[in-house]
Amino acid sequence: VKHPDPRLTPGFEPYWEGTAAGELRLQACSSCGHRQWFPGPVCRRCANPDLRWQAARGDGVLYSFSVIHRAPSAAMGSEAPYVLALVELSEGPRVMCNLVGCAPEAVHVGMPVHLEFEESMTGVARVPVCRPTKGGVAIGI
Ligand SMILES: [Zn+2]
Repeated sequence: VKHPDPRLTPGFEPYWEGTAAGELRLQACSSCGHRQWFPGPVCRRCANPDLRWQAARGDGVLYSFSVIHRAPSAAMGSEAPYVLALVELSEGPRVMCNLVGCAPEAVHVGMPVHLEFEESMTGVARVPVCRPTKGGVAIGI
């Protein structure tokens, strides 16, 4: 799967440093322990501004998904069909990423997945993808 280069938005540096190192980093609140994605200036539960970046374990379940039959850009044209997934991490937050390693017709809500990281088109960043966890379901591709 090809990934468009992400926009490297100011304030997200710890996130992209994390993906480069093979981990997905969430913001954790020092006051109430809430973990959030994506990042913001304050905790969305208690408004505490003291947030720490913390690596997610990288496992979760498929909360929702769409099979994309028409790629959004010509550069990705050869990739369709592919699966855009909304993953609920074991820490709670939901992240959107492509699902790999499974035929679209075998994908189902609730399947256990884990995160991996792949280079974006020009290699400026690594982006998260999710893959069905072995033992959870048959691995398609
Ligand atoms: Zn909080």
